[in-house]
Amino acid sequence: MSEIYVTATPPTPNGDLHIGHLAGPYLAADVYTRFKKITGNNVAYITYGDDHQSYVATTANNKKIDPEEMVENNNNIVRSTLKSANIDVDVYKNPLGNNKHINYVLTFFLELYNKGKLKKKTKDILYCDKCKLNLYESFVKGKCPYCKSDSSGNLCEACGQINDPINLEQPFCTICKSIPTIKQYTGLFFPINDYKDKLNHFYSSRTTWRPQLIEFCKQIIAKDIPDYPVTYPSNWGIPVPIEGFKDQVINVWFEMYPGILESIDAHYLHQYGIRRENKHKQTLVQFLGFDNSFFNSVLHVASAFAIEKDELLPEHIITNYFYLLDKEKFSTSKGHAIWGGELLKDVPSDNLRFYLSLTNPEHMQTNFSFDDFLQTNDKFTKKWEDTINRYIEVINHDFKGIIPKNAAIHYQSSSLIQRTKKNLEKFYDLEQFSLRKASFELEDYMSSIIDYLEEKVLPMKAKDDVLYTQQVANVTYLLKALSVFTYPIMPTFSKKLMRNLGASSSNLLWNTIYDISTCDEVGNEKEFFYAWNIKTRRGS
Ligand SMILES: [Zn+2]
Ligand SMILES: [Zn+2]
Repeated sequence: MSEIYVTATPPTPNGDLHIGHLAGPYLAADVYTRFKKITGNNVAYITYGDDHQSYVATTANNKKIDPEEMVENNNNIVRSTLKSANIDVDVYKNPLGNNKHINYVLTFFLELYNKGKLKKKTKDILYCDKCKLNLYESFVKGKCPYCKSDSSGNLCEACGQINDPINLEQPFCTICKSIPTIKQYTGLFFPINDYKDKLNHFYSSRTTWRPQLIEFCKQIIAKDIPDYPVTYPSNWGIPVPIEGFKDQVINVWFEMYPGILESIDAHYLHQYGIRRENKHKQTLVQFLGFDNSFFNSVLHVASAFAIEKDELLPEHIITNYFYLLDKEKFSTSKGHAIWGGELLKDVPSDNLRFYLSLTNPEHMQTNFSFDDFLQTNDKFTKKWEDTINRYIEVINHDFKGIIPKNAAIHYQSSSLIQRTKKNLEKFYDLEQFSLRKASFELEDYMSSIIDYLEEKVLPMKAKDDVLYTQQVANVTYLLKALSVFTYPIMPTFSKKLMRNLGASSSNLLWNTIYDISTCDEVGNEKEFFYAWNIKTRRGS
């Protein structure tokens, strides 16, 4: 069987994940992975702590704490938040001090170097005389030379363009705020221009990348692409083991592609007991914020071409836009954020997952507001819970708690299930992947169940016993299907509903949608989205 490897961009361990992160690649990758698992695929969700990020070094510096300790603490926090959000990552490693990871990255890097694929170049670099530091990435800020937004070195989050920090307008050192001077360094650079034709060909054959990403990539390769710095003079990262560059480390964005391959190889070896050789049997699916597009869709793909090993390419990339908080960008430094770990202490993960899906920033930026979250949540949990509890009451009252199931499915129910199934198969899969559309589809489906219950089932009670029993069984079909349909977005609810239909939730599979044979005695859990006290906490 072929394997699917799903990645979400490695989170930087300089703090917890906020709900903007969760709404982005982490939830989407989880929903997709869950869907592929219950449709019988061999799929693994991979990410890791991006320990060698420059942001780790600058945050530790600003907070005057030990970076290694910070990495360890924050990786634990991030993992715990992912767990609280029911984001089920199969492989999460820590690169810091991890010899397997480091050696794999170095082998990849040295192979490119030995094949002459990296260029030695002397270049200007910003330097802070006060901090005695070379300034790149998070060490420097200024105005983006392309869109004039506030930007860090090397990448502008606002427009997604990479920049040479030397071209930032009004640059300053993020540690001491001094205006930098200019020095020179001789580093190793990757000439991405050499792979333009191959990149162009690759982009032209993508069927699942969102249109903005394709356009972004085509615009990148339409222009001259500056040689990309693969090494920086710094002491935070994987040290370069080549004479003449030993004061340098490997660029963390370059590290990411072999870093992911290492996780895939290790997972494969663990699963099959043999080394991964046939690279055509695997599929790589990557979820990322649009601001990281350059790295995954240009840098990583070009480095895969350069290594000439027919290596696994990101066949599918699903990007998302920024999620705003009260119409403003999430900002860790300004404290304008809602932290995943904090929020999930109060809010059940399914409620948050459903809301983040409804408001997902798929094709443009969208907004999170607490009031809207509470209102939407109240409406939807009430509607869903009331309906399911009403059904359970009917079973308890009229059928002594035992679900009637000796009835054929009515064409009205089966066509409703069939239509929803077809749509969800599109929205949960890559061709039209959309958390928004999937969650709206679930809402629609639930409304149809309510109508069915009100119009077809309940009025029948006074008219005809046999028909009434048949109609109730049809609601069972609809609810059983609901428990499967909701699993990717609301796994806790899905299993709870399954249990309350008297069926086992241990082997939940997409193709059991029409099977009510295992349904039996209704449960009595009542609270399908358990009560939460966020309102009182917030008001206090
Ligand atoms: Zn910009
Ligand atoms: Zn400084």
